Amino acid sequence: MASGLSSRVISRNITRTIRGPWNFVAGKRCLPVDSSGSMKVIEPASGELLCGVPISGTEEVNRAVGVAKGVFATWSKLSGREGGEKLLRAGQIIRENLEDISRLEVQDTGKPIWEARLDITSCPDALEYYGGLAPCIVGQHVPLPGGSFAMVQKEPLGVIGGVGAWNFPMQTCIWKVAPALACGNTFVYKPSQFTPVTAVTLGEVLADAGVPDGVYNVVQGEGQTGAYLCEHPDVAKLSFTGSVPTGTKVMTAGAQDIKSVTLELGGKSPLIIFPDADVKNAVKATLMANFLSQGQVCSNGTRVFVHRSIAAEFLKQLVTATEKLKIGDPFAEDTTVGATIHEDHARKVLSYVDSARQEGATVLCGGERVLLKGKLAGGWYLSPAVLTDCRDDMKVVQEEVFGSVASVLEFDTEEEAVKRANDTKFGLAGAVFTKDIQRGHRVANAIEAGTVWINTYNLYPTEVPFGGYKQSGIGRENGLTAVDYFTQTRTIYVEMGDVDCGLLYQD
Ligand code: NAD
Repeated sequence: MASGLSSRVISRNITRTIRGPWNFVAGKRCLPVDSSGSMKVIEPASGELLCGVPISGTEEVNRAVGVAKGVFATWSKLSGREGGEKLLRAGQIIRENLEDISRLEVQDTGKPIWEARLDITSCPDALEYYGGLAPCIVGQHVPLPGGSFAMVQKEPLGVIGGVGAWNFPMQTCIWKVAPALACGNTFVYKPSQFTPVTAVTLGEVLADAGVPDGVYNVVQGEGQTGAYLCEHPDVAKLSFTGSVPTGTKVMTAGAQDIKSVTLELGGKSPLIIFPDADVKNAVKATLMANFLSQGQVCSNGTRVFVHRSIAAEFLKQLVTATEKLKIGDPFAEDTTVGATIHEDHARKVLSYVDSARQEGATVLCGGERVLLKGKLAGGWYLSPAVLTDCRDDMKVVQEEVFGSVASVLEFDTEEEAVKRANDTKFGLAGAVFTKDIQRGHRVANAIEAGTVWINTYNLYPTEVPFGGYKQSGIGRENGLTAVDYFTQTRTIYVEMGDVDCGLLYQD
């Protein structure tokens, strides 16, 4: 069955070319009913126009939310097994079209193909995990005195409004959609204006997997379209991934109707390397923590705290490994660093390197635009930067750069490292490198962050929750925990005896 569905996907040609229309409402690609203009989507690798996407206004958002609301009663009444099977099938379709979908993601994001394959593989992982979990999303029976009892039910919330960032477009979308649908909700998603493509691909995959029309919808647009969605009174919950300033607006919009809100926001995570750490592994983790996806990863460990006694050796190995990274065509198999998402962002990243230099940091390598030839000449390719002589009060150490800039800071004691690691308004992630098992756990427990890795970095299996402390967010995605964020609890109390109202009633 799955391969038949898969060949239908390929026959539509949806996974091979960039093509519109770009909204996906009621089970098909469509134009917005009220477009107020068009967004130019630029291919990061070349700097050339990839596609024009009409911007959805209030009427189109109303239409999409209305469709999702209309089908909610049907979808939410399916058994977990019936709904879950469709998500499992969707996962299978993505696996069978992995290469084509990965290539779409490369066109849209500029990230290297080997990374896009990893990102897209995580999508069926999530669909299969929540598809399998769906029949197990059940309530409780609570025995009470006198034979009475309560049923505690897990109920879907209704229409979920999702808004996403541009760095992991399809993964970000599926991390929201898979658990939301498994819990019986319907969905309207607004992708980032910079990466509109694969959210629509997901619509076609879900439709081919048998998910009823209208359960999952996509409206395209910029911040204003996202705002309309967040403010819509029929949207029961907001699930947002993006920056802290936008997260504040989303939370404010949700507050008007007391909507439940999950926020996955920015970070400035610490990576602490003790003198007993395996230096080669620490270097590998530092590359993973700083240079994946051109450094455009929310959980990146951009504050690299290294014990003073091993700092020189660590920096030597880190710079050697960084200089070996191959900047080039994102579609080339041997490229390790692709294009930055767009010019404005690249200039912002470079400005952080400049400010670090002005504040006294030393740039050991990278931090420059690399001009490629031919079709790639218009792309913004930046060489990954390693900075040393950094201080905690520097702008580059305080603020989220969201680019390939690793700031290396030296420390002397464990207590000092933990204190400095926690000296941030963010709390998304962190890591500790040591061979001392007690220190590893002690430090991991002391880091104020939603995810802490011991002796590795930037791994996110679907099975474990992900999300932030402090200003890095509210709520969690992934794992069993996500079910709590896409359901509400109803308690039904059943009285098996006479009503006991104390002195209120006298025979
Ligand atoms: P952004 O906040 O600029 O935009 C995110 C999304 O919000 C976009 O789709 C945008 O159109 C939309 N938006 C803008 N204004 C809005 C409004 N008023 N109401 C509703 N939606 C609105 O972020 P970005 O530049 O796309 O992404 C980068 C940021 O995302 C970084 O800070 C990064 O750390 C964060 N991020 C976090 C995670 C995580 O899981 N914690 C994952 C990826 C990215």
